[in-house]
Amino acid sequence: MKLSDFFSASENVFCFFFVHLCLSIVHLDFGFLQPKPENAVTVAVSSRVLFRTEREQKVFEQKGVEEYLRYQIEHENEPFAPGPAFPFVKALEAVNARLRELYPQSEELFDIVLVTYNHAHVGIRLINTINHHNLFIERFCMTGGSSPIGYLKAWQTNLYLSADANKVREALTEGIAAATMFMPEKMTEVSKSQLRVAFDGDAVLFSDESERIFKAHGLDKFFEHEKENEDRLLDHGPLKGFLEALGKLQKKFYAKGQRLDCPIRTYLVTARSAASSGIRALKTLRAWGLEIDEALFLAGAPKGPMLEKIRPHIYFDDQMFHVEGAAEMGTIAAHVPYGIAQKHNSKHNTSAGK
Ligand SMILES: [Mg+2]
Repeated sequence: MKLSDFFSASENVFCFFFVHLCLSIVHLDFGFLQPKPENAVTVAVSSRVLFRTEREQKVFEQKGVEEYLRYQIEHENEPFAPGPAFPFVKALEAVNARLRELYPQSEELFDIVLVTYNHAHVGIRLINTINHHNLFIERFCMTGGSSPIGYLKAWQTNLYLSADANKVREALTEGIAAATMFMPEKMTEVSKSQLRVAFDGDAVLFSDESERIFKAHGLDKFFEHEKENEDRLLDHGPLKGFLEALGKLQKKFYAKGQRLDCPIRTYLVTARSAASSGIRALKTLRAWGLEIDEALFLAGAPKGPMLEKIRPHIYFDDQMFHVEGAAEMGTIAAHVPYGIAQKHNSKHNTSAGK
């Protein structure tokens, strides 16, 4: 039995009151008003990717729920260590600090929601951890084991990060940008003052239309097809909205003359080649009114070494092949389980690596 399956819906009422208690505690601490969902860029992260909880998961699996809850209560003053989404969330908060300096009254900020399937007892340890790491988590969602998708929609979530691939797939189906994160063996040091977000193109920012040509006919045919269709725009993919949301905040810095000192930087890291298939990608982004700060066309070369240089807080790709390749070199990579590549997902299937 999975941990998330355990907590029944009957606990939700208790959890509801508990969540409100949590929100009050967090708000008393920081004194910021919650932005309205339609103004904020809402990022929902699960506790299992924000923090490292492998030891606790093991206790649950090996000793059962009662022992697990006892363990959590006994250790409630011991903060969890940072997980793969932690540097990303810290960077979002650094951007918020800059936005608050420039626009003290504006609600156009990142709003972070912590999503957990856990029991309220574990919530106390999570709050202690949030305070320990000086995180500004303004919303807390304890779903008591039920799916968080309804809450994510209510909050107009712009990005959902979770360790649970099924929940991520469910969110994508509902049109919410989402990605699965994994516990990395090593994490490269990343910037504390500039948020860097890197995106793959096909089946991430764009639809998987062209990816299907590649899967069926190979890389040469793909390049040829893209050259022939360079004036036809690509359809949007699952992460386009999140790039758009980042762009909205970037423009607030540009409006204050801080383009060169902008604390958000975006990257397109694609296997497309500049000479042929790159033009269609750039024309599509331009037609959407989206700026990407750096575009890297690798023409089929591995992405890992390039990402190692960029040092993004997060890199999104639809192919596990690239996610694993990036992670091996210390990049925090998240998997977007969308499109045709999901049928070819295997580390050992090198032909999957466009
Ligand atoms: Mg792709």
